Amino acid sequence: MRRAEIAIVGGGITGLSAAYYLSLMGIDNISIYEAKYIGYGSTGRCAAGIRASFTSEVHVTLMKEAIKGWKKWSEEIDGVKFYQDGYLWLLTNDKEVRLHKEIMSLHNSLGVPTKLVDREEVKEIAPNIVLSDVMAALYDPTAGKSSPFDTTLALRRLLLKRGVKIHEYTKVLRMIRAGSKIKSITVEGVGEQEVEYVVIAAGFWSRELLQPLGYEIPIIGDPHHLMITEKVSPLVKPLVIHKASGSYLNQLPTGKIILGAEYPVRENDLELRIGFIIKAVKMMSRYFPSILNANLQRIWIGYYLKTPDHHPLIGFLPGLENAVIATGFSGHGYMMSPIIGEEIANLVVKGRPRLKATEKLRPSRFEEGEMLEEKAIFG
Ligand SMILES: Cc1cc2nc3c(=O)[nH]c(=O)nc-3n(C[C@H](O)[C@H](O)[C@H](O)COP(=O)(O)OP(=O)(O)OC[C@H]3O[C@@H](n4cnc5c(N)ncnc54)[C@H](O)[C@@H]3O)c2cc1C
Repeated sequence: MRRAEIAIVGGGITGLSAAYYLSLMGIDNISIYEAKYIGYGSTGRCAAGIRASFTSEVHVTLMKEAIKGWKKWSEEIDGVKFYQDGYLWLLTNDKEVRLHKEIMSLHNSLGVPTKLVDREEVKEIAPNIVLSDVMAALYDPTAGKSSPFDTTLALRRLLLKRGVKIHEYTKVLRMIRAGSKIKSITVEGVGEQEVEYVVIAAGFWSRELLQPLGYEIPIIGDPHHLMITEKVSPLVKPLVIHKASGSYLNQLPTGKIILGAEYPVRENDLELRIGFIIKAVKMMSRYFPSILNANLQRIWIGYYLKTPDHHPLIGFLPGLENAVIATGFSGHGYMMSPIIGEEIANLVVKGRPRLKATEKLRPSRFEEGEMLEEKAIFG
């Protein structure tokens, strides 16, 4: 067996970010094991959106830190770009407008400067919009977007330079426990590998990795579709959400348009449905009719990983002193990654996270009867 290492299971954004911060803290024995290729899981399937406009204090606190992180990453990591173009939540009935007035006050009290804007202001923010039934919108100027492909590849390049070992197409088959520790992992094609720490950032597959050890982590794979068009002329800068239907449109800096919609599919089923295209196009072309002329390039589907309270699981696995889990991010794990990676590194190196908000995400919270609450989920 080789030297005991800090083994990160999963080469999505969570695993990469954890490796980055561990390496910044001077750790030099890090290995990432990825069953397929970097970004294969939910990361490479996400809509690139980043925002702090949530309704739970835990999410807002983490995302304010994460946005600082995105700015830092875009300055310090060659190839990462963060575009702070905002989010615009279109509101089409009185009830939503009233609710979002309250949500705005909550955001503002937590330091997120969202603003309820009228139809005229919506037109100023998004000049190409057809207002149709829009009554008002909630605008979040601190939100933005960043390409998951650029970011993961940039992190991959940097981590290799910093001496992190990245093993792609190398699945971790099982984890072997001795008392209160994971003593080793069995790696496909390699055999048994002794570990000092293990970070489980295996997304949807974290569950199957942990079941043999007796852990039933409460996450379900909730399939969500997306589609992308070929490049079109500049249409709109902020990511635009039609709140009532959960449909959204995100024009990327490349000019391509991502369209998403709430289109329920049964759990753990990644078959593509044409009905999704119809719903997303129908909803968003009401406000941006020119998308009907765009060429469809690709449609895909991936998992939101839902926990019972729509907040992730971050922390030591109960009863294990060298195994940290980070998963269950719903539709928000890409945006959270700068702070989550830092907190994983804090857990490994210092034994505790920096933020109280992260402590609240401990995996044991459900058994302890502590549920968090989040209302601002869509897509
Ligand atoms: C349609 C859609 C839209 C989304 N939009 C957004 C968005 O706009 N903003 C946002 O922040 N989030 C968004 N998300 C959510 C986001 O994509 C995820 O929360 C995030 O990517 C999770 O990253 P991760 O690294 O934790 O997991 P993953 O990216 O799923 O990575 C886990 C990795 O572990 C690997 N793995 C699994 N088992 C093993 C094993 N045994 N051995 C080795 N490797 C293993 C997998 O191959 C995979 O690559 C969206 C998700 C979807 C599906």
